[in-house]
Amino acid sequence: MSRIYDRVALIGLGLIASSMAHAMRRHGLAGEITGHARSMETRAVAREIGLCDRVCDSAAEAASGADLVVLCVPVGAMGQVAAEIAPVLKPGATLSDVGSVKREVIAAVGPHVPQGVHFVPAHPLAGTEHSGPHSGFAELFENRYCLIIPQEGVDRDAVARLEGFWRAMGALTDEMDADHHDLVLAVTSHAPHLIAYTMVGVADDLRRVTDSEVIKYSAAGFRDFTRIAASDPTMWRDVFLHNREATLEILGRFTEELFALQRAIRTGDGDLLFDYFTRTRAIRRGIVEAGQDTDAPDFGRTKRG
Ligand code: NAP
Repeated sequence: MSRIYDRVALIGLGLIASSMAHAMRRHGLAGEITGHARSMETRAVAREIGLCDRVCDSAAEAASGADLVVLCVPVGAMGQVAAEIAPVLKPGATLSDVGSVKREVIAAVGPHVPQGVHFVPAHPLAGTEHSGPHSGFAELFENRYCLIIPQEGVDRDAVARLEGFWRAMGALTDEMDADHHDLVLAVTSHAPHLIAYTMVGVADDLRRVTDSEVIKYSAAGFRDFTRIAASDPTMWRDVFLHNREATLEILGRFTEELFALQRAIRTGDGDLLFDYFTRTRAIRRGIVEAGQDTDAPDFGRTKRG
């Protein structure tokens, strides 16, 4: 694969940025990769493992002269980082981000984007429960969707180039508007994470089942919740605070369905439960058929991620 950008700057050096760095290297997509993270500790680790060609002590230094700058920080930090780097962005450069929420990130970053810089927000739908510069791997984006959120009047060549960049890292791409993105993600990711956090919290609170029993017998379903509930607390706090409306709407619907199932259990309505579970099983089959998971009975645990 050939070079797509001469210089790429990654601001924030966690799971997503480190996976991008590995994928860019593997496919030869960037001439030089610069990077910056807030803490000295993370920058030291990134230098030690040679994550980027240059790890810089400030975001502005990393972004200066880059052809593509990707904000890979928690959603709540995007606006402040954009303000920091705006003065050094090169005319003609593309500024993108990988935030899990789009409307509020666009509102926070957009006003800082200088004339002549192409702002193309994106969101790779790929992740694990791990975080930090050590956690990345080149295959993370393979066969996963990266949603691109083009803004009105944006340069289409810049959008096409960024889409090509994500496809070269193995991703599939689609374009979507920000509000729709936030609603779709509330259903597919944000509400499920909150439910997993809650379920693990309930098990923790329930003193009638001992901790050792919960851990020992976790394969009965709980284990899959614990994996999701181990996700980064800062990232997920920011996701809920910044996708509040859509998440609350989906949680409202979830609560109604939960009550309906609760009533069916109490009244012994086996038909309702059976029909409901038949419908949900078909959704799982659809995900496997679309190549977005394996039908291995262990949730594909033998594979990485
Ligand atoms: P992560 O592993 O927790 O890493 C976050 C990075 O951001 C760290 O290097 C952190 O630096 C840095 N950072 C935080 N605040 C900063 C600031 N103010 N200035 C500069 N650097 C700062 O996070 P991640 O999982 O890669 O997530 C990054 C972004 O991708 C988030 O917006 C998230 O919503 C999105 N995303 C995540 C996933 C996922 O499953 N993980 C999937 C898709 C999209 P320190 O280490 O020094 O604190």
